[in-house]
Amino acid sequence: MQQTHHLIDGEDIATTSGRSGPVSNPATGDQTGEVGFASVEEVDRAVASSKAAFDEWRNVSIARRTKLLHEFRNLVAANADEIAARLTAEHGKVADDARGEVARGIENIEFSCGLADALKGTYNEQASAGVDVYTVRQPLGVCAGITPFNFPAMVPLWMIPNAVACGNTFILKPSERDPSAPRFIIELAQEAGFPPGVVNLVNGDKVAVDRLLDHPDVAAVSFVGSTPIARYVYATGTANGKRIQALGGAKNHMVVLPDADLDLAADAAVSAAYGSAGERCMAISVVVAVGDIADDLVERIRVRMDKLVIGPGDDPTSEMGPLITREHRDRVAGYIGSGADEGATVVVDGREQVFDGDGYFLGVSLLDNVTTDMQVYRDEVFGPVLSVVRSDTYHEAVQMISDNPYGNGAAIFTRDGGAAHQFQRDAEAGMVGINVPIPVPVGYHSFGGWNDSLFGDTTMYGPEGLRFYTRPKVITSRWPDPSTSSVDLGFPQND
Ligand code: NAD
Repeated sequence: MQQTHHLIDGEDIATTSGRSGPVSNPATGDQTGEVGFASVEEVDRAVASSKAAFDEWRNVSIARRTKLLHEFRNLVAANADEIAARLTAEHGKVADDARGEVARGIENIEFSCGLADALKGTYNEQASAGVDVYTVRQPLGVCAGITPFNFPAMVPLWMIPNAVACGNTFILKPSERDPSAPRFIIELAQEAGFPPGVVNLVNGDKVAVDRLLDHPDVAAVSFVGSTPIARYVYATGTANGKRIQALGGAKNHMVVLPDADLDLAADAAVSAAYGSAGERCMAISVVVAVGDIADDLVERIRVRMDKLVIGPGDDPTSEMGPLITREHRDRVAGYIGSGADEGATVVVDGREQVFDGDGYFLGVSLLDNVTTDMQVYRDEVFGPVLSVVRSDTYHEAVQMISDNPYGNGAAIFTRDGGAAHQFQRDAEAGMVGINVPIPVPVGYHSFGGWNDSLFGDTTMYGPEGLRFYTRPKVITSRWPDPSTSSVDLGFPQND
């Protein structure tokens, strides 16, 4: 069985905590590895290493940092297939999806390669007579990242490139469910030439997270995961005086207006609901059918579902893989039953599909006539279950999104530019798609939701990520002739 260890100061460190977690292949149900969980002392060791490295790293030139980021980018690209294979083996997502995840991660490194331009300060000459004022952005110190199971490669790459580009050092605490891809990425960062301690990795659970949130030498924490833990990380970290950005769960709605091309909408709904087995924070979980199109749209979705191939992620014919654990698969299946009990129409019941072996597979499900009081609507299901809610009007659909506590993504399908433009203004979500079901922003915009989908003031990666990982310093400077100097107790005025 493969053992996954910490990586601190460039060294492979096995835990001595005596605590560990199993790592399984979700397609077979077999345990394939074990990941050691950090003790408080091991987290402290990583923080001490990152703190020591910060003193030198913050003074490394922009030119050198840029070169290292390019090297890192090239190594991740050269090893994309190996990273993707690890994703498939431990997360279960199909190979093509896994390669897509790595490609989006690389986009974030590419953005950070432009740090020279992005970190330019501002300068005002002659702000007052003989006085110049300028702002520079400086790093925070030791930053930490805590990441979820569903994007074990991409989400760490939302954080690491920008954090180190800005001159911070970084400690990654990835999900304990699929730790080998993030571990490999940190190895690649070391191979790229980042000095020891600039990027460290500790594996673990709540013990490691709590120590990072508590440690006086950790300046900032980026978190991505479920809403209850995001809320906890934000509340605890800010109470301890840290800068925190904590991205949470989601319930993404796709509104289909009566004028939409229904084939286009059905393709998009199926792709966005069942891709990665629905285990995406940007997955479409609810289709809101406006007006009289619901019967037609539901039928077009159903027909497409019949053709989906579900199987192991390393089988090139598979379009959807298993869920992450047996418990999660059973929890997701429970929502199909609860929806039926509460009055939804089960058009396709994924529980009826039988799979060979002990993998954590579940067929795709479609529930119609879902209402907003049902549990399947209220909760984040995070699995291949799509709900259809019928709505009489556009306004009712938009109100539904506003009333939902989450606010990650929202999409509209229509051929009416005016309606789309109105939706762009109205939707209570941080990321909006117009005929795009999964509007994940490109690397040079930033990613993040609203309301219960994000706690904190800045979204992640892109320009907002740079803002998070730096603090502004304003310098007021003059070089006067000493002979003109005199004592003046008045408050300095600009003239
Ligand atoms: P999770 O909240 O269970 O775990 C996320 C991280 O928090 C992991 O590293 C885990 O070890 C740690 N953690 C778990 N329980 C903890 C506790 N009690 N105290 C401290 N730390 C704890 O999330 P997950 O199941 O790994 O990931 C799926 C969730 O992440 C979904 O809700 C999904 O919507 C969300 N997600 C959100 C985004 C986004 O950008 N908003 C992106 C990806 C995933």
